[in-house]
Amino acid sequence: VPLLEGRGLVKAYGPTQALRGASVRLDEGEILAVTGTSGSGKSTLLHCLAGIVGPDEGSVSYAGERLDRLPEKRLSELRRTEFGVVFQFGQLIPELTALDNVALPLLLAGLTRADAHTRAGEWLERFGVRGQAGLRPGEMSGGQAQRTALARALITGPKVVFADEPTGALDSLASEQVMTALVHTARESGTAVLLITHDAQVAAYADREVRMADGAVVAVGVTA
Ligand code: ADP
Ligand code: ADP
Repeated sequence: VPLLEGRGLVKAYGPTQALRGASVRLDEGEILAVTGTSGSGKSTLLHCLAGIVGPDEGSVSYAGERLDRLPEKRLSELRRTEFGVVFQFGQLIPELTALDNVALPLLLAGLTRADAHTRAGEWLERFGVRGQAGLRPGEMSGGQAQRTALARALITGPKVVFADEPTGALDSLASEQVMTALVHTARESGTAVLLITHDAQVAAYADREVRMADGAVVAVGVTA
């Protein structure tokens, strides 16, 4: 069984058909790039696969379990423990330092403050932003903030990371640093990554690429 599979996904927002029968699968530990023009349905696909949005038609299965049939409580637990998300603007909490942002998921998981801070420091180091531990997101560069957001998404050891244009707001050097950090950590921990990007250089980091057009997956290829 694939780790994550969407089949025949259909989703409308009022008169807009965001998905018209999109099918995609993500294998364990695989890095899959989802490309396609703006408005082709990439984000909607990600939202459906991550259980954030329910499709109108079609199914999403995670490790063989239908997400749409899970009780809300189990679904939110799954999202918290097995899924990590990173968006274009990392969604770090602006009032918290980098260290506190990264420690937060561990505190929510029940670790003591001291343990959470120790591990958060290690993860900042791993992503090359230890020196920014005491800074708030607004005091960091875009690339540093995204690497902090990645550390926060990966620190709990998720099975899947959903990344929606994680480098969308970055220049090419910062993009490269973010992608290198993401790919390195995902490989090391066997984490699968669903990566939305419109940047061919970013897509080249993936094992495979699927291209969307008009709400459906239209082409599948091997990258690099
Ligand atoms: P196999 O698993 O047998 O190697 P492939 O990976 O070549 O098969 O894909 C089998 C079929 O599924 C092909 O039609 C391909 O286009 C499609 N496919 C492969 N990977 C994906 C994916 N991640 N999402 C959607 N369709 C895919
Ligand atoms: P992409 O990520 O490829 O740019 P999206 O999935 O964001 O595509 O959007 C697909 C289509 O659905 C677009 O026409 C978009 O405007 C529309 N859409 C997406 N989300 C919403 C929403 N929450 N409300 C209304 N329309 C939406």
